[in-house]
Amino acid sequence: MPIFYILSLFLLPFSGLENTSAKTLKPLQVSVPDSLVRHIYLSFDDGPLNGTANCINVCSHEKVAATFFQIAMHQSRSSFGKNLYNQILQNPALFDLSNHSYSHANGKYLPYYHHPDSALADFQKAKKILQPKNNLARLPGNNAWSTKNEFRASGLVKPLVLKLDSVGYNVMGWDLEWHFNKHGKPIQTPEAMASMVDTLLFYNKTKTPKHLVILMHDHMFGDPADSAKLARLIGLLKKNPAYQFNKLTSYPGLK
Ligand SMILES: [Zn+2]
Repeated sequence: MPIFYILSLFLLPFSGLENTSAKTLKPLQVSVPDSLVRHIYLSFDDGPLNGTANCINVCSHEKVAATFFQIAMHQSRSSFGKNLYNQILQNPALFDLSNHSYSHANGKYLPYYHHPDSALADFQKAKKILQPKNNLARLPGNNAWSTKNEFRASGLVKPLVLKLDSVGYNVMGWDLEWHFNKHGKPIQTPEAMASMVDTLLFYNKTKTPKHLVILMHDHMFGDPADSAKLARLIGLLKKNPAYQFNKLTSYPGLK
């Protein structure tokens, strides 16, 4: 590969190349110096749900790592949920399964966060059911962080985040969300998402420089046309040889 191309990868947000020669490039197999590697963490919230199977299948087919933050109530209420949960556990090389609470606050976030002891109990109940092999947790409906290196929590959720921290959890937020509309379908195009990834990493706008966490929700990808968009996003990101997909258990600074 010509050296000018290697250099251009890191001098421009990568999507800038999308309109030129990169459009015809296949995923590249080149070794990238460690200092230039950028780590991407795909995370899927709220499963097991309709859509989870497609997330598993797309990531498995693309051989990219992902982290599933699951709601224990969704796992425990049916064999459908348990089967999806087991599919994730069967591929520990690619997938992490982590705690996203038992009830997801039943959608009532203010009373949930105003009662941090019962909210903590909700996470501990989920831990018993999900039996995750890691100590990562993500709050329902709130972007908060608590690791060895990072702490970010609004006044509303801070009491719960401190309690989760005190019993050993790393609370994991995100840098970029693929939003969904009122029908649960992805709003941004895969191209727009890939461009945002490039921009956030290029301008060091992520929580941890060189590391970017993407939040998505399993239910966005139940329709094959939408799971194709997930595959498209992964394909676009794979065009940049500096991008590596990792599970969140390898995020820097975890307790
Ligand atoms: Zn959620």
